[in-house]
Amino acid sequence: MDLSPYRIAPGEPVRLADRPTEVDGGKTEDELDDLHDANLEALDELQERLFAEGTQSLLVVLQAMDAGGKDSTIGKVFGPLNPQGIRVWSFKKPTEKELSHDFLWRVHRRAPGHGYIGVFNRSHYEDVLVVKVHGLAPPDVIERRYDHIRHFEQILEDGGTTVVKFMLHISKDYQAERLRRRLRRPDKHWKFNPADLDERERWDDYMRCFETALERTSTESAPWYVVPAENRDFRDALVSSIVRETLERMDPQFPAPAFDPAEYPPESIE
Ligand code: AMP
Ligand code: MG
Repeated sequence: MDLSPYRIAPGEPVRLADRPTEVDGGKTEDELDDLHDANLEALDELQERLFAEGTQSLLVVLQAMDAGGKDSTIGKVFGPLNPQGIRVWSFKKPTEKELSHDFLWRVHRRAPGHGYIGVFNRSHYEDVLVVKVHGLAPPDVIERRYDHIRHFEQILEDGGTTVVKFMLHISKDYQAERLRRRLRRPDKHWKFNPADLDERERWDDYMRCFETALERTSTESAPWYVVPAENRDFRDALVSSIVRETLERMDPQFPAPAFDPAEYPPESIE
């Protein structure tokens, strides 16, 4: 699958309204499933290599509007992998203590250590999204955050962490459909938050803030991908393809043994 149409080039102007939210990539549901399964198999080995190597890590950032499918993407792409090598963290409204620090304080401590894949369900990008839409910080403070974020991600990169960022892109109509579904199904009521409707009213503001964030923080080493997220088979196959490609470029290697295997023939163990 060609990943480049979904990648935001550094400095590229972004118009989300021009980007599709529903795509099948010219593949049937079965073909998308097969591709996803093949990716998972490859990811399983790549993750083991990453862990064994223990000198680099991968950070996956997931952002979306409410009901955009962040939780289900995490389940489908990372759920099947060895849970010992994955660190998932969901960022909620900051606590009073978190607010008493700089906005990256709570984020940096959740960055994955060497050998691990970290997955952020929401992230430091909330600090230029919800915070900007609601004016929770002064405009000049928010304005400086784009530079802070680029530098922060460069610090991670310099420390051996590759960063890849996904915006799960849905339409406002699709969100309505998903929110209605949450209300129709009693087993999904727990996922419905009446406050999501206030956010929904600010849809256009959110899209503008996403566009600015994508334009100003998609870099060669920490790129953003805009994932058409309404066809969930396509979404999963695309995200797993990108994570796979990223890990393949990182090319983790099993470390050389710290002993001489010739001295320890397996038959010597009784
Ligand atoms: P959920 O992902 O549905 O559990 O909701 C988490 C909520 O926390 C969302 O409404 C986010 O917008 C909000 N949130 C996350 N990070 C921040 C932040 N830095 N400032 C304000 N709200 C945030
Ligand atoms: Mg929610």
